[in-house]
Amino acid sequence: MSTTTTPSIATLTLLSPESTCNTDLVKSPWAFDDGSASYGPGSSENDIAPASTPRQGQIPDEYKEASDQELRERILAAKKTLGEELVILGHHYQRDEVVEFADFVGDSFQLANAALTREKAKYIVFCGVHFMAETADILSTDEQAVILPNLAAGCSMADMADESSVEECWEQLMDLYADEDTTDGKASVIPVTYMNSSAALKSFVGKHGGIVCTSSNAATVLEWAFERGRRVLFFPDQHLGRNTAKAMGIGLEQMPMWNPRKVLGGSDAQTLIDAKVILWHGFCSVHKRFTVAQIQKARAEHPGVRILAHPECPMPVVDASDEAGSTDYIQKAVAAAPAGSVFGIATEINMVNRLAAEHPEHTIFCLDPVICPCSTMYRIHPSYIAWVLESLIKGEVLNRITVDQDVSVNAKIALERMLAARP
Ligand code: SF4
Repeated sequence: MSTTTTPSIATLTLLSPESTCNTDLVKSPWAFDDGSASYGPGSSENDIAPASTPRQGQIPDEYKEASDQELRERILAAKKTLGEELVILGHHYQRDEVVEFADFVGDSFQLANAALTREKAKYIVFCGVHFMAETADILSTDEQAVILPNLAAGCSMADMADESSVEECWEQLMDLYADEDTTDGKASVIPVTYMNSSAALKSFVGKHGGIVCTSSNAATVLEWAFERGRRVLFFPDQHLGRNTAKAMGIGLEQMPMWNPRKVLGGSDAQTLIDAKVILWHGFCSVHKRFTVAQIQKARAEHPGVRILAHPECPMPVVDASDEAGSTDYIQKAVAAAPAGSVFGIATEINMVNRLAAEHPEHTIFCLDPVICPCSTMYRIHPSYIAWVLESLIKGEVLNRITVDQDVSVNAKIALERMLAARP
């Protein structure tokens, strides 16, 4: 059975400009480390990066000028020298040239938990994005340092819900629901944050009786929340919230969107009173690219194709797909399928290409015909990994991500609620 793959980022230079969403992808990530760029080329290039988004200064020239082979040898040598003191985590959406150095590959929560199994590791190098490194820091011991090789590797979706906007929303909702009868013991609203959010927001939900969810357990978490409250305020990803709530039978009319730039989020008071799930106006620009037209085309060209969509995709895409699930779900579905299966997948291109390479018995392709990786994941490159590892050998801990203790305590409560909410 043939395997349909899209060329990796490493081979972008061989492609025509039409093959990619931005020809700047052929440049090295440090071309965007001058402090002025937003998220860099890729799917979130048009999103607005808040001024508070961390920037990465220029790294030493020796790492920018080193060949791929030299970087590889230097990283492997540094890994050997650091031994059990080091663990490298690689998110599914990282490029192959990064994932090859990872001790664990997975989604954000799997990786944070995987790091816990390496008690001797003093250094956790997280090849992912900022909120993932924060979660790893919350869950790790005080003696462990979590390092993000490129500080500009944020997440545009996480940045769409900042702490002050959520606090402001919360105050408005508390005022609105102040006179509500609570003799049934239920709260007016329970805040739920997706794992893809800042530590400050995880702390916020922990402090206000709320909980964290992942794309694997969002339905379980919403059930947990409805046992304790009449409504849910769900942030930052509107699509995961809408897709999950809709699958639970909640009507779209009971899911108003909260636009943080408008009074009452742009809704009227009665709509918010009648609401079951209030959705934050956030989205992932990687998953927003998928369309129903792509699914129709795949079905026309590949009769019998199985369409798997990540729940961060817009609702019409999830509705038109055969199945929707997390990266873990997608991986397992592909692994369990009989040889010769054909998959059209709606998630980040690096993961889809890797699945295709790992499963030559199937035909696997990304539904998006254009190469458009996550802009922020793209910021991690072997040059940064070599730089932080060799600095560790010299006794210098660079790019450490530290969550303040007062934030960490409440964020951990919200994470522990999620673990306890398992069905
Ligand atoms: S894929 Fe989307 S949600 Fe994940 S890090 Fe990139 S922008 Fe954020």
